[in-house]
Amino acid sequence: MQIMKLPAFADVHVHLREPGFEYKETIASGTAAAAAGGVTDVCSMPNLKPVPDSIEALRPQLEATSSSAIVRVHPFGAITVGESGKTLADMEGLAPFVCGYSDDGHGVQDAGLMREAMLRAKALGKTISAHCEVNSLLVPGGCVHDGQWARDNGFTGISSASEWKMVERDLELVRDTRCRYHVCHVSTKESVALVRDAKADGLPVSCETAPHYLVLTDADLRDEGRFKMNPPVRSAADREALREGLADGTVDCVATDHAPHSSEEKGRGLRGSAFGVVGLETSFPILYTCLVEQGLVSLDRLVEAMAVRPREIFGLPQADAAQDFVEVELGCRQVIDASLFVSKGHATPFDGMEVHAHIVRTVCGGRTVFGV
Ligand SMILES: [Zn+2]
Repeated sequence: MQIMKLPAFADVHVHLREPGFEYKETIASGTAAAAAGGVTDVCSMPNLKPVPDSIEALRPQLEATSSSAIVRVHPFGAITVGESGKTLADMEGLAPFVCGYSDDGHGVQDAGLMREAMLRAKALGKTISAHCEVNSLLVPGGCVHDGQWARDNGFTGISSASEWKMVERDLELVRDTRCRYHVCHVSTKESVALVRDAKADGLPVSCETAPHYLVLTDADLRDEGRFKMNPPVRSAADREALREGLADGTVDCVATDHAPHSSEEKGRGLRGSAFGVVGLETSFPILYTCLVEQGLVSLDRLVEAMAVRPREIFGLPQADAAQDFVEVELGCRQVIDASLFVSKGHATPFDGMEVHAHIVRTVCGGRTVFGV
């Protein structure tokens, strides 16, 4: 067994649920979960009430953050008013307070509107973080990957094209606008190939994937809410492409898409549960065990993907070696027990999995925020 000191992690895709949905998570509970996972910077998604589409609408989140966050919170501003995809948010007004813009939870369906958003983000020197999903390619009731498992078990699928067709559209817009553009939660092999080609062409693009897409496939599904997230875990070929992409840097970073819900909302099986699983407290142990120990990705590359690249992409200061670090124990044996999570959300497909790393201590800005 071995204790190692690493730069504290940054998670650029987190749902803290406050203001508006405090029964799912609060800034206090969500940042405590981040600290427990070795994360000292989180970028918080704007699907809140109110949606932060103006300074006034962002203010309650800023106030709750200053009173109750124990790690640094960097809010995203919305791309469109109310995340409704109709008119652009006050991107200029929000600029001094946000790490970027996202309508996470919804794809921006209107290409003309997305192009205009990119031009404004480019002028403001900010990144757009895009949830890519083409609504017209969705089938009502889709809840898992549209693949073998869905067919064998009688579930309605969510197609890969519903993701990658929007990645493809947006990359063409980037070719034109030269906006800094980041793809959220990439889950398909086609998206990985598109991002790889765009990077080879010198476009200012980056992307993230989440631990569940790197570790699980649709063959692991069970009819339980803790296996339901959007996009869904996909085929073995998709997982393979994501692993290769992470190893070669096409997939820049790992973000959790930590998306807590109440147990009631997650207790209705694959068809009836809300989309989203928690991830802040398990990301590093799972990826160390399933990727580093297996020789698929080096520890250095994983640290780069969890600590260095996310901060580069969203313009956050890099972790200071003396002030922002995490101590991890490697080579131990632990079983993930979701009932012990600090987060208010307990739905994870990794409950019960044996892992060989755990977070011992997290230091944020010189202060111990987790462990002793
Ligand atoms: Zn999303």
